[in-house]
This record gives sequence, C-alpha cells and structure tokens, in this order.
Amino acid sequence: MGAEFGQNKGGGRLPLRDFWKKTIGIDNRLLRVELAIYLFMKTFFLIVVAGLLVLQVSVFATRDKTAGDGKASETPDSAGAPAFQLTEAEWKERLSPEAYRVLREHGTERAYSGKYWDQKKEGIYQCGGCEVDLFSSEDKFDSGTGWPSFTRPLSEEVVGTQIDRSFFMVRTEVHCARCKGHLGHIFKDGPEPTGLRYCLNSAALTFRGD
Ligand SMILES: [Zn+2]
Repeated sequence: MGAEFGQNKGGGRLPLRDFWKKTIGIDNRLLRVELAIYLFMKTFFLIVVAGLLVLQVSVFATRDKTAGDGKASETPDSAGAPAFQLTEAEWKERLSPEAYRVLREHGTERAYSGKYWDQKKEGIYQCGGCEVDLFSSEDKFDSGTGWPSFTRPLSEEVVGTQIDRSFFMVRTEVHCARCKGHLGHIFKDGPEPTGLRYCLNSAALTFRGD
C-alpha cells in the first residue's frame, strides 16, 4: 500500500486513487493511464520543440559570427596569408566586367589585348582583386605570347596553385593566395632562374610604378 499522494485537509495521507478522484474526477484506471501517457507525450513534445529552438538559435549565432556581413575578413587561410573575402555582388561592384570575368570566373583575355603584355616599366604588379603585391618587373620577360609573363612571384606565399583540367588540357592554374582571384597559368618553358613561365592576364593585375 505505498500508493499515497498529497495530503488532505486533515493532515492525513490521501490515497493516490482518491487524489485522482477528488482533484480531477477520474475514477477509472484506464483513463488515469491514458492521462499519464498524454501528459508524458506533451512534456516530451515540448522538450523536443525547445531543443530544436535552442539548436536553431545557436546555428544562426555561429553563422553570423563566421560569415559576418560579407566584408573583407583578416582570418588567415591555409597558406597563412590573411584572407580577403567578398560576396559575388561586392566583387561585381569592385571590379570591371573584364577583371571580374578573369579573376572570379577563371576567364582568359585574348592574346595581345591586355595592357601589360609588352609593358617594360619598372614597378610592382599587384593583384587586381585585393591589391596585394604579387610580381616584380625584374622578373618579367618577353615571352612572345601576348600575355604578361614572369619567371617567379615576389614570394612563394603570395600565390597558390591548383590543377586545371578545363579545355581538355592539364594545366597548373595560379591564383592570388589572399583573395583566390585567378591570375593565369604556369608553364615549364620559362627562362632562368626558375625555368617557369607565369603566364598571366593583364586584367587580373594592377601595375604600381616605382
Ligand atoms: Zn588578390
């Protein structure tokens, strides 16, 4: 007889069955079981809903923290260089249509059409996307291809490469390590000291004369 619950006005123990009967008016074992199951399910449902709400709020909070409002962020990327990230809309606003096509869509300008292929001025060629220094006029050479060509970047860290299998060719694509903007391709028929030819698009570069 351990089924005791609550207390009556007299201070004595009230049997559980009488408690149900007096407070809720249910004197049927089956109904009591059903009510208990209903209350349990309702509580369980509320806990699940509350849990989902908490999860959603935390996901939104994380997204806000990592994505921000799409402005340039200075978190280091895998190469150790500070990243420069914009939304596609911001890139379109920042770049000319030709620079956007080359830098953001891996386009290639027509040979002999760019503004730097035969330029011989001394200075630094910066990334047309994020203005970081990439190549020096000291490493520029006349490749006869109609594209500005260099034997090496200012340092290995400022550029990144990946294999490009487009147009039924296997080429090494080269991009700015900071903003990931596409610059051109690397070929192994360049002059000393590296034997490499960094074949770039003028539209992906900005020249800064000394
Ligand atoms: Zn860049």
